[in-house]
Amino acid sequence: MKPIKKIVIVGGGTAGWLTACIIAARHKGREASGFSVTLIESANMPTIGVGEGTWPTMRSTLSRIGVSETEFFRQCDAAFKQGALFSRWTTGEANDAYFHPLMLPQGFSQINLVPYWSEQHSAQAFCDAVCPQGIICQSGLAPKLASSAEFEAITNYAYHLDAGKFAVFLKNHACEKLNVNHLIADVSHAKLSANGDIESLALDQGQEIAGDFFVDCTGFRALLIGDAMGVAFEECNDVLFCDTALAVQVPYESEISPIATHTISTAQSAGWIWDIGLPTRRGVGHVYSSQHISDENAERELLRYLGDASSDLSPRKITFRSGHRKTFWKNNCVAIGMSAGFLEPLEASAIVMVELSAKMVAEQLPVCREVMDIIASRFNATTLYRWGRIIDFLKLHYVLTQRRDSDFWQDNLADSSIPERLKNLLLLWRYQSPWFHDEFNQVEEVFPAASYQYVLYGMKFKTHVEPESLQSRARYAERLLRENSNLTEKLRASLPYHRDLIQKIYERGLQPI
Ligand SMILES: Cc1cc2nc3c(=O)[nH]c(=O)nc-3n(C[C@H](O)[C@H](O)[C@H](O)COP(=O)(O)OP(=O)(O)OC[C@H]3O[C@@H](n4cnc5c(N)ncnc54)[C@H](O)[C@@H]3O)c2cc1C
Repeated sequence: MKPIKKIVIVGGGTAGWLTACIIAARHKGREASGFSVTLIESANMPTIGVGEGTWPTMRSTLSRIGVSETEFFRQCDAAFKQGALFSRWTTGEANDAYFHPLMLPQGFSQINLVPYWSEQHSAQAFCDAVCPQGIICQSGLAPKLASSAEFEAITNYAYHLDAGKFAVFLKNHACEKLNVNHLIADVSHAKLSANGDIESLALDQGQEIAGDFFVDCTGFRALLIGDAMGVAFEECNDVLFCDTALAVQVPYESEISPIATHTISTAQSAGWIWDIGLPTRRGVGHVYSSQHISDENAERELLRYLGDASSDLSPRKITFRSGHRKTFWKNNCVAIGMSAGFLEPLEASAIVMVELSAKMVAEQLPVCREVMDIIASRFNATTLYRWGRIIDFLKLHYVLTQRRDSDFWQDNLADSSIPERLKNLLLLWRYQSPWFHDEFNQVEEVFPAASYQYVLYGMKFKTHVEPESLQSRARYAERLLRENSNLTEKLRASLPYHRDLIQKIYERGLQPI
C-alpha cells in the first residue's frame, strides 16, 4: 500500500490558500503520522487579484476552517452580499432590473409558487412576491443584527471581499493555525514516474519537492494539469462570448457612503459591468467580448458608467479563455481554481467551485494510491456536471434577453450558441416552471431551481398555467405570499443599515460561535 500523506499545492492565490486551509483543517491531528500540507507560491508571478464576489458556501467554509468572522471582516475589507441586481439585461431600458437573491422562495420545498404568482400577483416583481431579500437589498440593509452570532444569518448571505487581502488572511491562518508549510519558489516543471504520476516538483533554485498528491492552483498558467499531465482545455467561447475584462477600484464619495449589499451587474452593448461595494472602495469591471467591441470603446463604456468617479482611474486589462479542462483529476494531480477552468464572473461561480472541489478532495482524500483512481473518476464526474450546469445557467441570462441593439445580443440568440440541454429546458419551462426536483438533484447544486426561477421570471419569461390546476393548494399559496409580505415589512423595520453593522463589527465584534 502506498499511503497518501504528503500533499503539495502549487499556487498562492485564493484557490491555493483556500484549498490548503480546507485540506489541513479536515486532516488536523494527522501530522504525527507524517501527514503534511505544503504550499509553494511564486514571488514573481502575481495572483489574479480580482474575484470579490462569493457564494453563501463561504460562510460554512470559513467556519469549518476555524477562522473568526469578525477578524475576516476586519482584515479582508469584507462586506455582506445578499444577491445580485441585474440591470438592463431584459430590455436595456433604464428601469429594467431584477434581483437574484440568495434566499429561497417561501415554502420552496413544499410548493412551487410560480404559477400562483403568475396568475394572481404578477404586477409585483417575482422576487419581491416570494422572498424579502430584494427589498432588503434595495433598502441598503444588512442580513443580520449586531447581536447575531458569527456566521448566523437572518437573511441568507455571502460576502464581497478584497481578493488580495483575503489571500493574505488565509495564508496567515493556514501557516499559524493549521501547520501548512509555506515555500516561496518558482516551480519549473514536474518530474513524472513510469505510471505517469507526479513524483516531485523541480524548483528554480535547484531544489526538488516530492509528494504523494499534487494540487494545481497555478491559475491560468495550469502548470501541472496542463503542462505536466497534458490535459486538454475545452473552450466554450461558442456559447459564452466574453473574453476580456477591464477592472478598476473606485473610491467612495465619502466615508459614510452606503455600501451596496448586492453585486450590481449592468448590461452593456457587448458585455456587462460588475459593481461590488466593499467598506473602503468599490470594485468595478467591464467584462466584454473582444469580437464585438474594441478595448477603447469598452473602456469608454466603463468610464461612462463611472461618471464623475472615473477621473484618474486607469483600468487593468485581463484576458481569459472561457472553458474548463477535459478532466480535472489525473493520476495523482488535481486542478482547483482557474487552472481547472474559468467562466465569466456573472454569477460569482469560480470561488464556490474552489470551495466545493477542495471540500470533496479533503473529504474523500484517498488513503492510498491504490484507490485514488476510483475517487478521481467520481470527482471528475461531479466536477464536469457542475461546469456544464454553470455554463447553461450563465447562458440563460443571455438567451432570455429582448435586447436586439447590438450584434453581441443578437449573436447570443443564435441557435448554434445555445447548449441542447438548455434548449430542452426552455421548451419544458414554457409549460411547467422549474422546481426543486426538476433535474437539479445533486446534493450541492451550484445553482438550484430557485436560481432559475429568479432569472426566468425576473427576465419576464412566460410559463403557461392551467388555472384549474392551482385550485387544490391556492389557500396555502396565498398564505405564503401574505407571510412573505409581512416578513419583508418586519425585516425592513428591524435590520440595521449595512455600513452601520460593519462599523459595529469593527468596534465590538460579533459573538463567536
Ligand atoms: C475579471 C475577473 C473577475 C472575477 N470575479 C470573480 C468573482 O466575483 N467571484 C468569483 O468567485 N470569482 C471571480 N473570479 C475568479 C477568481 O478571481 C479566481 O477563481 C480566484 O481568484 C482563484 O484564482 P487562482 O488562485 O486559481 O489563480 P491566481 O490568483 O492566478 O493564483 C495563481 C497562483 O499560482 C502561482 N504560480 C503560478 N505559476 C507558478 C509556478 N510556476 N511556481 C509557483 N507558483 C506559481 C502564482 O504565483 C499565484 O500565487 C474572477 C476572475 C476574473 C479574471
